[in-house]
Amino acid sequence: IDWTVEDGWHDAHVRPYGPLTFSPAAAVLHYGQEIFEGMKAFRHADGSVWTFRPESNGRRLQHSARRMALPELPVDLFVESIKQLVKTDEAWVPGGGESSLYIRPFMIANEDFLGVRPARRVAYYVIASPAGAYFKGGIKPVSIWLSRDYARAGRGGTGSAKCGGNYASSLLPQREAVENGCAQVLFLDAETNTYVEELGGMNVFLVQKDGSVITPSLTGSILEGITRDSVIQLLRDRGHTVTERRVEIAEWMEGVRSGEISEVFACGTAASISPIGVLKGADFSVGDADAQPGEITMGIRKDLLDIQYGRAPDRHGWLTRLV
Ligand code: PMP
Repeated sequence: IDWTVEDGWHDAHVRPYGPLTFSPAAAVLHYGQEIFEGMKAFRHADGSVWTFRPESNGRRLQHSARRMALPELPVDLFVESIKQLVKTDEAWVPGGGESSLYIRPFMIANEDFLGVRPARRVAYYVIASPAGAYFKGGIKPVSIWLSRDYARAGRGGTGSAKCGGNYASSLLPQREAVENGCAQVLFLDAETNTYVEELGGMNVFLVQKDGSVITPSLTGSILEGITRDSVIQLLRDRGHTVTERRVEIAEWMEGVRSGEISEVFACGTAASISPIGVLKGADFSVGDADAQPGEITMGIRKDLLDIQYGRAPDRHGWLTRLV
């Protein structure tokens, strides 16, 4: 779907996957004026295809658009774009196991103009690709790497927007994480380097031994994960107390060492819920790499996947039928 200052949103169409053509002066290539979303479509046992909380992705895209001085796509048009794309060939939504169709909506500034001001011509696209199970051969707790040298986002920055620039700044620390045998990097707040923010692509939860759960509050510099919001709801459904508050990294480290924190997990669209076994950095390591995934972590994971794959009633009205 195209957008110009003069005409607003217009010319929605589906076309075969292939290269896009831009001017070498397209604003997105120079100033990073672009945003995106990540979501999935799930095939249920009866063959129908559903997506999870698409209005939330649509609203988050609008939030990202406001921060990046891009036009807001109406949420109903966003949801319709997902429906139209998935319907073009329903056979590409895999069935069985934990496979899904990964969907990537994105918006870029494609005005050819060298100069720092919001572009007057923008395009919105949706692409998709079948995705297998995130964990192959069983769910194993992952290790994560504490980045002390790099922050993902600071106060007043773009941390709560889903824009490419945030991920550009996390490429180097993410590479450091992988070089140290970790799946993802953990970021602390940029101002004090004290409070837990999020992983490179997931939000985090700490389960205490009394069953209460803590997750870092939305400070404006972390992404408001849709899985995060769903997990808070599912934990409360199971009777857990969930507190959103600032969490010091020392509280996490000491809590795991003392046993006060019994489980740690991360969540996001790609992996749904992933147990965290070890937190390590240049000069420390806490947790047990051979630990079994925690009971609460795996219970919530099952609750979420059962709703997404239609194996449990959609009691919160989170699913939208696509096919
Ligand atoms: N934080 C970051 C930085 C992410 O990239 C993602 C993935 N979109 C998340 C958290 C989790 O968000 P969601 O649950 O909406 O996928």
